Amino acid sequence: MTANLAARLTETLPAGRIIEDPALVAAQATDSSRHPAPRAELVVRPRSAEEVAAVLRVANETGTPVVPQGARTGLVGGSAAIEGAILLDLTSMDAILAIDVAEGTAVVQPGVIVADLQRAAAARGLFYAPDPASAEWATIGGTIATNAGGMRCIRYGVTRDAVLSLQVVLADGSIERTRPATVKGVAGLDLTSLVVGSEGTLAVVTEATLRLLPAPGPARGVLGLFPSTAAALAAAAAITSGSRLPSTLEFLDDTALRGIRIARPEIPLDPDARSWLLAVTDSLEGADHDLDHFSAVFAEHGALSVTRADDEERLDDLLAARRALNPGLQVLWGDATHGDLAVPRSRLAEFASEAERIARETGAEISLAGHVGDGNLHPTVVYDGSDPVATEAAHRAAAELLRLAQSLGGTVAGEHGVGTLKLDDVDGELSARLRGLQREIKRVFDPRGILNPGRKL
Ligand SMILES: Cc1cc2nc3c(=O)[nH]c(=O)nc-3n(C[C@H](O)[C@H](O)[C@H](O)COP(=O)(O)OP(=O)(O)OC[C@H]3O[C@@H](n4cnc5c(N)ncnc54)[C@H](O)[C@@H]3O)c2cc1C
Repeated sequence: MTANLAARLTETLPAGRIIEDPALVAAQATDSSRHPAPRAELVVRPRSAEEVAAVLRVANETGTPVVPQGARTGLVGGSAAIEGAILLDLTSMDAILAIDVAEGTAVVQPGVIVADLQRAAAARGLFYAPDPASAEWATIGGTIATNAGGMRCIRYGVTRDAVLSLQVVLADGSIERTRPATVKGVAGLDLTSLVVGSEGTLAVVTEATLRLLPAPGPARGVLGLFPSTAAALAAAAAITSGSRLPSTLEFLDDTALRGIRIARPEIPLDPDARSWLLAVTDSLEGADHDLDHFSAVFAEHGALSVTRADDEERLDDLLAARRALNPGLQVLWGDATHGDLAVPRSRLAEFASEAERIARETGAEISLAGHVGDGNLHPTVVYDGSDPVATEAAHRAAAELLRLAQSLGGTVAGEHGVGTLKLDDVDGELSARLRGLQREIKRVFDPRGILNPGRKL
């Protein structure tokens, strides 16, 4: 099979695109979930849409699965190898083709790193809003395919909101553009939005026309330290329902703060603080009023302290605790389960108090942290993996948190995608009829089921 497949691909691709060395293929087998993955056949690194099309034609004819890969920072196994698959590594297609100031758009290949586009846009006085924490590594193609979120969604929306038009290669190798790159346009069904977030199961993105915004003002913020989770979440609710929307609203709970104090003792954190809430503004006009408003809301909700950062450097200092979240949680017990839930913002407080009940009943230690401005939490259950009882309790607690989010009208997949790791979990929120309908849509796009089969749907 390998020899045949490689021979077929070699006939159609320029030299140097195919990697067959088993060690090199294995090195690209997993994503950042580090979940074990089976053996793929080979890696192809195309350099154009035509080369992607050539690969898909061979795959379609031979019934070979294809796994599109960006930077493999995905956390749900979506870009991990499938047995016998072609790993279609798009990172060599990394050109920023145009930044058009008049249109307010960028045209980019899928392998462009998100932060590189942000910097290129900034150099022209423009702003690419999507900002996942992985922006220095993740690709535009991967973030489009997962509809990635991040810290600025409360004001700017998710990746979908920045995508105007896509060039895609379909499973049969045809190259199509999903829509004209106009601001408005309603001809036909919205296939751009359908491809965004489809995790490589419907088409391969080979070029994107993305919306750029005028550059915002410098980011500034206010940090509130609170005596309880309930107080911080009440302050967050007052801000999200108020008239001054922050660009970022991040939250850390008591467990997270405990770990951060151990892992990064140099970060000043009041020992009495039981939760942490940071509101950021990047308003060009009225930023001072935004900060006054956030400070007043924090004080009204019983903040132990309110610290204001009037420039980006001081804001960066305040963000140190948020950046230390993962090292902090790791230092507590060593092992952890990671979640990516979203609930309606008005139900965050209820979620947090029910999570406390789950922690009490299971004996597991749960940390809640995340983008509360979007109702998007990344709950972490920390545990000692050498203790089977603790391990079982942690996994039981993690599963209960998923069901809790769904029972409150939320989702188990806020921004990281479904991949393989959450396939079973989404049953709790999508009906069998709707899941069936989605698989029928997949069959229309990809009748032989070669594109990232067994994922997302
Ligand atoms: C430290 C860290 C922080 C993170 N922070 C965030 C965050 O704040 N917000 C967030 O949403 N996520 C976050 N993530 C998750 C991850 O970065 C995102 O899911 C990101 O969008 C993946 O991009 P990637 O280039 O690594 O894609 P990959 O992981 O390589 O692929 C992800 C999915 O996209 C598909 N795909 C990739 N390229 C294409 C293409 N050109 N055409 C079609 N399908 C394609 C793959 O098949 C796979 O299903 C984080 C991950 C890490 C490790």
